[in-house]
Amino acid sequence: MFQTARIKLTSWYVIIIMLISASFSIVIYKALTYELSRVENLHRARQERLQTLQQLPLELRSFFHDRYRTFYIDQELINETKNRIALRLISVNAIILALASAAGYFLAGVTLKPIQEMVDEQKRFITDASHELRTPLTALRAELEVALIEKSISQKESKALLKSNLEEVKNLQNLSNRLLTLSQFKKPDNHMAKNLSLPQVVEKAVKKVTPLAKKKKITIKTSVKNFYIEGNIDNLIELFVILLDNAIKYSDSDKKITVSAQKLDGRVAVNVADQGYGIATKDLPHIFDRFYRVDMSRTSEDVTGSGLGLSIAKEIAESHQGSIRVKSAINKGTAFTVTLPLKQAA
Ligand code: ADP
Repeated sequence: MFQTARIKLTSWYVIIIMLISASFSIVIYKALTYELSRVENLHRARQERLQTLQQLPLELRSFFHDRYRTFYIDQELINETKNRIALRLISVNAIILALASAAGYFLAGVTLKPIQEMVDEQKRFITDASHELRTPLTALRAELEVALIEKSISQKESKALLKSNLEEVKNLQNLSNRLLTLSQFKKPDNHMAKNLSLPQVVEKAVKKVTPLAKKKKITIKTSVKNFYIEGNIDNLIELFVILLDNAIKYSDSDKKITVSAQKLDGRVAVNVADQGYGIATKDLPHIFDRFYRVDMSRTSEDVTGSGLGLSIAKEIAESHQGSIRVKSAINKGTAFTVTLPLKQAA
């Protein structure tokens, strides 16, 4: 597809350039041949006048002869010059055609490359998403089919089945919500607020995860000065919810999470640190990739997730001209740092 589009675009470039070049060549040819014809006509008129001089007295004849004496123009020479001009213009056009084709092909490649990358990215996304959706759907179907085959099913068994199905449905719902959130960042954002108070954003995010933290007896300590940032409040809250939610999910009970912020070269760096399981060095370069999940078999916890949280967090940070970094040590903890442009310091 890319190659066909590239050739089509190149053809359009070449057609446009050749139309302009051929029009110019025709105009140049017409102007030059017109000038040549004018000189030719002038010469013919002078020749005719010289003929009439023959009837004048000798002294007058020599006077006018000097005035009308003119260079000799050969008709053949004029025709040859016209042909040479035409030939030169055709050669110039052939060179322009060759150059335009090469340059057009190159430029079409450069123009189409980002589109091709976007199409590839979308294809990858759709393949990954359908793969991720297929796994819980297959599990759900298998469970239901087995239950249907069963001749008699006790109330306890059917309750267990429904519970397990509900869990899968919840996972699917969570996954589809996250997929929707991810697709949002492809559109322009019309909800950018000028002066958002960072402590308020953090506080709202903390409030959302507090029930989860309470369940695991995890305390969240925040110390964020009144920095002001620009952005979409819902997305920024979502960004910190993702980081806090992970900090809770990937920590044992009774641990502590700290959220702090400091000014750094006209930007604000917000740090979310936990005392959890940590991430192995080999996994660190991949955790922001879509659907990437670290193998948690080494921990006793069975933590569910979609592998989309951190890629959403990264998209949010980048859509705010910010960035996100991670530092981690196994069994010591993980710290994510979100850096955002600062609008106004406290
Ligand atoms: P998930 O839905 O699996 O949590 P994420 O994209 O949010 O997906 O995270 C990707 C992976 O990075 C997780 O599977 C987890 O292994 C690891 N991870 C993220 N945050 C933390 C953290 N605070 N502590 C330890 N591991 C983490």
